[in-house]
Amino acid sequence: MNEELMGRYSDSLLGVFGTPQRVLARGEGCFVWDTEGRKYLDLLAGIAVNALGHAHPALISAVTQQMQTLGHVSNFFASEPQIQLAEKLLDIAAAPPGSRVFFANSGTEANEAAFKLARRNQSTRRNRIIALEGAFHGRTMGALALTAKPSYREPFEPLPPGVEHIPFGDADALRACVDDTVAAVVLEPIQGEAGIRMLPEGYLSLARELTQQAGALLIVDEVQTGVGRTGQWLASAGVVPDAITLAKGLGGGFPIGALITCGEAVSGLLGAGQHGTTFGGNPVAAAAALATIAVIEENHLLASVAAVGSEFSRGLAAIEGVESVRGRGLLIGADLESASAPKLVLRALQEGFIINSTGPHTIRLAPPLIVEPAQLTEFLTALPHLLHDMKDPSP
Ligand SMILES: *Cc1c(COP(=O)(O)O)cnc(C)c1O
Repeated sequence: MNEELMGRYSDSLLGVFGTPQRVLARGEGCFVWDTEGRKYLDLLAGIAVNALGHAHPALISAVTQQMQTLGHVSNFFASEPQIQLAEKLLDIAAAPPGSRVFFANSGTEANEAAFKLARRNQSTRRNRIIALEGAFHGRTMGALALTAKPSYREPFEPLPPGVEHIPFGDADALRACVDDTVAAVVLEPIQGEAGIRMLPEGYLSLARELTQQAGALLIVDEVQTGVGRTGQWLASAGVVPDAITLAKGLGGGFPIGALITCGEAVSGLLGAGQHGTTFGGNPVAAAAALATIAVIEENHLLASVAAVGSEFSRGLAAIEGVESVRGRGLLIGADLESASAPKLVLRALQEGFIINSTGPHTIRLAPPLIVEPAQLTEFLTALPHLLHDMKDPSP
């Protein structure tokens, strides 16, 4: 721990994030180093963000070249990278004709845009938005209204009205509530912050069917699951929603978010002047996302993420003290039998592994998509010892 920098951190940064565990200085591939020179295997990738790991040459080159050519222009002007990226996203999302893209700078902003889209699907009676218990959609006021966690919401009420949270994955609850008073249903195909919770088989298709019948929008939040994280471009592949939001992994570490509106009718809901952002769609962020997608394609990472991820999940599930493992591709949650997950995170950090906990007994793993099987094996080899150490009262 770098005491001097941490003192300056707490004297200068707003205390919303608690106390960071280390001050990081640099990264390369799947490793980062702290200011004291200690090396860590990064199995969290900045929370499912650093798809290409750290300091990937293709990303550096794309961002550098774009910055040298044209940095920021505002949305009074178009730029080629932004157009190329929009086309690319429509392509990888297999979006129907008439689909469009709006660029933002983060996940919460992409969801704010989706929230406004839902409001535009509102007639006098149609004023409800359905989200799920356990949902996390971001921290700005609209996205926070969609987020379920009371401790995140309550200090900031009143939030934009009309949002209801129904029990997670409960098909009957969904059937009971989706009618012609609903403007939109908003779902994560796999709940990330809630501990990598999978929707039951068929739930997403049911949501599509019910919303279609009722004239409600189906909005899929793929901020954490999108752009290859689960071994597919989209975790919702196979279902055509009305809107998709992306962010985390999209720019490979460069801030960018996107809303995809599917089809002509939905894309027409937000017209000129009804939404906007100064930075959204800027050429540098667009170039970063294009480079990230190109590396995923050129290296066939979707297939390797699926294969490496399921092998890693099997390895995790076989470890004594791991009760169950969930997830898809390289978005993995594991429940521990008895050990405290937050304590395991600290112990792992001491041993040079960055992991994360989403609950008292749940850890989350979301390594870079370029992670090598041998690097994951390193963690699997260490984990029994880390879990064992935690039973032992002596350090
Ligand atoms: C992280 C996340 C968000 C919020 O993204 P930010 O970039 O932190 O605003 C929204 N939805 C999901 C599913 C997320 O995982």
